[in-house]
Amino acid sequence: MTEHAGQTGSHEDMTYEGANLGKSDPVLRTEDLRKTFGGLVATDGVSVEVERGSITGMIGPNGAGKSTLFNLISGFYDLDGGRVWVNDTEVTEKEPHETAQSGLIRTFQTPRRLEGMTVREAMLVGAKGQTGESILPLWLSPSKVTREERANVERAERLLERFEIAHLIDQPSTDLSGGQLKLVELARAFTADPDVMLLDEPVAGVNPTLANDIKRFIRELNEEGQTFLIIEHDMPFIMDLADPVIVLDQGKVLMEGTPDEVRSDQRVIDAYLGGAGP
Ligand code: ADP
Ligand code: MG
Repeated sequence: MTEHAGQTGSHEDMTYEGANLGKSDPVLRTEDLRKTFGGLVATDGVSVEVERGSITGMIGPNGAGKSTLFNLISGFYDLDGGRVWVNDTEVTEKEPHETAQSGLIRTFQTPRRLEGMTVREAMLVGAKGQTGESILPLWLSPSKVTREERANVERAERLLERFEIAHLIDQPSTDLSGGQLKLVELARAFTADPDVMLLDEPVAGVNPTLANDIKRFIRELNEEGQTFLIIEHDMPFIMDLADPVIVLDQGKVLMEGTPDEVRSDQRVIDAYLGGAGP
């Protein structure tokens, strides 16, 4: 049985039902997260759970607070209130690298440029980057270098193969197309072997062919047990991939349901019509 975290709020008479809580094995849990920017309440008491093994979608009109929520969960923004757990470890107010070490990795809506690095180098920094570990000890202890480095290189190569970009390994990252960079960013995020992966608009600005490839990669990883929480504006993409889907509106959870439940909910339709549009 799941219960609803009752929330009431603005948007005329909209009932903010809240997310489904009380899941059996949540890998990620938030409780009453709050964030304001000046007078603006960007996150207004968000409690959500992501069940291990799921692809959980997150949708909502522009400015609903989706990216802010990711920033709060992953430790990139300071909280004004609330708590976060990853794998039952409380990560409230932890630094991003500590949250990553607890098993949560996130990607950014706009991929960061990887100046001066080849894809191979970017992947190896990725293996250590978000978790905050230093690669320096590897250089200082030569016997360890060979073993650990080889393992990292092999893992990086496997990930590049999985994302079908193994042929790019020696390319300077500045030579990559936008689509290729997107795939490198995805592959790189997985080098930390996260328990839950948060993707912020993975197919924004991506052509339909690549979007389909990305959908297939996500599905394959999920079939092998990878858990995802995915923000996406592309409705057909997210409705095809995710279940359940959580709807954010004006910093609050409007509802959570199956893609069909969400699609046919009048409040969701109203939120998109009343907001900045999908
Ligand atoms: P979404 O990802 O759902 O489109 P965001 O989380 O990016 O929405 O933004 C939610 C609200 O918070 C918006 O009104 C946005 O302008 C505001 N906001 C987000 N980040 C910041 C910030 N760093 N400084 C000030 N306002 C911000
Ligand atoms: Mg956003």
